[in-house]
Amino acid sequence: MAEREAYFYYKVLGVDKSASADDIKRAYRKLAVQYHPDKHVDDSEADKKAAEEKFKEIAEAYDTLGDEKKRAAYDQAGGRTMDGFGGAGGFGGGQGFDPFDIFNAFFGGRGGNGGFGGFSDFFSGGASQSGGTRVYRGRDIRKRVNLTLEEIANGCEKEISIERDVPCPTCNGRGAQSEADIKTCPACKGTGTYKRVVNSFLGQMVQQTTCQQCNGEGKIISKPCHSCGGTGLTRKKETFTVKIPAGVDDGMQLSMSGKGHAGKNNGPCGDLLLVIQQAEHKEFKRDGSDLYYTKLLSVPEAILGATVEIPVLGGSVKVEVKPGTQSGETVKLRNRGLPSVNGYGTGDLYIKYIVYIPKKLSKEEKAAIETLKNSASFAPKEGNEDKGFFDKLKDMFE
Ligand SMILES: [Zn+2]
Ligand SMILES: [Zn+2]
Repeated sequence: MAEREAYFYYKVLGVDKSASADDIKRAYRKLAVQYHPDKHVDDSEADKKAAEEKFKEIAEAYDTLGDEKKRAAYDQAGGRTMDGFGGAGGFGGGQGFDPFDIFNAFFGGRGGNGGFGGFSDFFSGGASQSGGTRVYRGRDIRKRVNLTLEEIANGCEKEISIERDVPCPTCNGRGAQSEADIKTCPACKGTGTYKRVVNSFLGQMVQQTTCQQCNGEGKIISKPCHSCGGTGLTRKKETFTVKIPAGVDDGMQLSMSGKGHAGKNNGPCGDLLLVIQQAEHKEFKRDGSDLYYTKLLSVPEAILGATVEIPVLGGSVKVEVKPGTQSGETVKLRNRGLPSVNGYGTGDLYIKYIVYIPKKLSKEEKAAIETLKNSASFAPKEGNEDKGFFDKLKDMFE
């Protein structure tokens, strides 16, 4: 809040410094009715807020200038209040201040139809604080965990470092220097909201608004804790080891309950969400718990068959390539994939064979291939292969 100029209260009421008590009363009456929230129910949010602010200022000004003693002290101090304007909204922290109380006192009392009809219960009145301060659940923390496929296959332990809000040790999360420095908000009587009955064309309606004085907290801290500045929270770096189960998938979130930020006013902690990020593997592609590997075969290997070495997680295995293997053909190695994260079985490893066709040949190689050019077995045809072979070929494009 900006520093107020001297004799601000006179300006708010639009009166001279020499104004009589009657002038001040008249000015307040006029402005209070003009800016009363009930007159601005249908305004935009911004206008409503502005009117509300003005209504408070007017009440505050009248509270001082309408009282002979207070006015004299104010004038003597050069148009400043004694307690200064520390708090939000410009009201000194200590005294309870309720613009509606002033309004009601002026116009003839709460609940009465003093001068301007209809409103009855602006604040939820004596409705006592349900006990204790409003508490909030802490925010969640999201943390990325990078894992290799090997770590995912076996499960692993990871060291995690986070910075989280924890209750301030100086004030035990209260935010105040002592328990005595926490006061029930006088504006809302600790409810954090105020309700008022509004007369609209629909009849009487209760409007509920967050209390501006305490931002809905229901409490006002007069002396904030020096360590945390009144938030009740402090940042702390924490490092701990987390067990990551085998089979987790990219993008999966592991939730660690209560490891997130602490809540305000000693509210419960949020969660720590570990977001799994799998590093690209140089050999395998992954789909769920299955792995895919592409193996290049030479033309003779594909035609004659061969024994090839295929990598698997944590080693390699020898695999027989059967004679006449087609480019694009896939074979499955059972249980050579990843364990399922739920513990139900293990995925498979699919090997896709691609036959490598050389582009450059020596003279001798070329001559050797030439001799096969008119060989009947090398002519592509349907019939002497397994049934559905060409269908399978077509499938490769999908
Ligand atoms: Zn309040
Ligand atoms: Zn503190």
